[in-house]
Amino acid sequence: MKKICILGSTGSIGKQTLEVIAASNLYEVVAVAAGKNIALLEAQIRQFSPRLAAVYNEAAAKTLRENIRDTGTKVLAGPEGIREVAATSGADITVTAMVGSAGILPTLDAIAAGSTIALANKETMVCAGDIVRAAAKEKGVQIIPVDSEHSAIFQCIGTWRRALKRIWLTASGGPFAGKTRDELAGVTVADALKHPNWSMGAKITIDSATMMNKGLEVIEAVQLFGVTPEEIQVVVHRQSIVHSMVEFADHSVIAQLGVPDMRVPIGYALSYPDRKETPTEGLSMEKLASLTFERPDMETFGCLRLGFAAAKCGGTMPTVYSSAGEAAVERFLVGKCSFLEIENLVESAMQNHKTVIKPDLTCIIETDRWARAHVAAL
Ligand code: NDP
Repeated sequence: MKKICILGSTGSIGKQTLEVIAASNLYEVVAVAAGKNIALLEAQIRQFSPRLAAVYNEAAAKTLRENIRDTGTKVLAGPEGIREVAATSGADITVTAMVGSAGILPTLDAIAAGSTIALANKETMVCAGDIVRAAAKEKGVQIIPVDSEHSAIFQCIGTWRRALKRIWLTASGGPFAGKTRDELAGVTVADALKHPNWSMGAKITIDSATMMNKGLEVIEAVQLFGVTPEEIQVVVHRQSIVHSMVEFADHSVIAQLGVPDMRVPIGYALSYPDRKETPTEGLSMEKLASLTFERPDMETFGCLRLGFAAAKCGGTMPTVYSSAGEAAVERFLVGKCSFLEIENLVESAMQNHKTVIKPDLTCIIETDRWARAHVAAL
């Protein structure tokens, strides 16, 4: 049985990872970690009996420790507790399903411990991709993408990396595809949280509505597949059936298709290099009325344009893009800025940042803080 650690087990990806695990006898959960949802964490601990658990919120960790005294699970607390779980879980695979740049240090800890990374937490790769890749190379650790588009690209590239010509990165377009800026001016949090195809956590759902998510994914693809931003073409594909495509030197294009269900790429990351049954429906080709592909509207969805700009700039700019975006989405979710202001806040942070070309980890962490503080001060 493969030993699995899940950082962010109470979130959308974390819960679906546990569904994949529960439906098979191939995996053993050795550690779980979450932010504050101890009711769900307790249920998960009682079902999967991990050796270790960690809760970011220290008061919640204390309560959980008391509530599960009758189990054999040790509970750690705070950011250091999350890092200790990542470093000492003994997992073969660590699923990074935390949200935001909070995932950077625990991901590096898991790599240092020699654990394969099933990477959902894209912000870590966007902010600190060079450092994460270098650490993984040094330890001989594999990073397997969970994001459906990157899982698709990973599967399509196969052994033909040297013949890769272009990546066609598909985007659903989110709930506002086809809208004008005037129509976007008054959209509410509830409107933006209604994704047409995917059920996901709040932050990535808002990022999908602004197309910031696609900007983050462009940078994630640059990091994971060693391509330039110019070699990535985003296409809006509203059906979310083709999860991405890869074009080779001979102009042959290979696509990966499937139902829009994250349990498929999660299952693939856990079973890689094998493929195993996942508890999902199959794709019915007869039911597919059409598959459409359109150019994205980067004027209306300026966060995607900014994502390409950050990818081309490199250095610390992707960190500013991602972390300012996190701060802006937090502000939008509590009703303190409008939907279109998210883009303005990110653009302001990028315009006011002096890029460091080869940042070390301290510089990345300082840039993350700076970007959040810049947005907070606007
Ligand atoms: P959710 O918001 O649903 O879940 C986030 C998880 O992280 C929760 O378990 C939360 O705990 C935990 N968490 C939050 N802050 C901390 C912290 N400081 N320390 C430890 N744990 C913390 O997010 P998603 O599952 O939607 O997304 C997770 C990541 O996966 C993101 O980076 C996202 O971009 C990526 N992703 C998600 C997809 C999806 O379909 N959802 C698809 C592709 C990528 P608690 O519940 O206690 O707050």
